[in-house]
Amino acid sequence: MTLTTHIIIATALSKPFFHADPALVFFIALSSHYLSDAIPHWDYRLGAVRHIEGGDIGEHEVLRDRALITTDLMKIACDIALGSAIVYLAVQPEHTIAGLLPLTLAIAGAVLPDSLQPVYWLGGRWPITWIHRFHTFMHASIRLGRDRWTDNKFILIGKVSQLALLLAALSLAIS
Ligand SMILES: [Zn+2]
Repeated sequence: MTLTTHIIIATALSKPFFHADPALVFFIALSSHYLSDAIPHWDYRLGAVRHIEGGDIGEHEVLRDRALITTDLMKIACDIALGSAIVYLAVQPEHTIAGLLPLTLAIAGAVLPDSLQPVYWLGGRWPITWIHRFHTFMHASIRLGRDRWTDNKFILIGKVSQLALLLAALSLAIS
């Protein structure tokens, strides 16, 4: 699932608690990542990340190719920037620490699980292995898109489901 979608969903769900404990905002945002990953969705492809032949759905390796890694990091940075800009405009927080902290924590919680994935692929040990196993367990086993690039029908369904989710969360974040 794109990080933009994760950020919007996390903001929509944690926004009612923005005036409560910041730890609660972060926890809700983090939980929302795992729960929304369970919904079949589309993902964009990362050039430096390859699925290990015959491995489990979450088993990938990172190709040590500087050009591919740079392109991937730029894609990810754009994805996070887009999501952050959308929720910033939707929430319109006050420019104070108290106003900006909850939104920052919602964004951080939304992207953290995917940020830890490369740490595992590069040989991370416990607790990264445990977190990775939980992430894979929560991920839709019929994850649309990445594993079915040859079938346009599945990619389309995954994009539509994610767009619907994104719009629903956005309307919640704005309200
Ligand atoms: Zn994820």
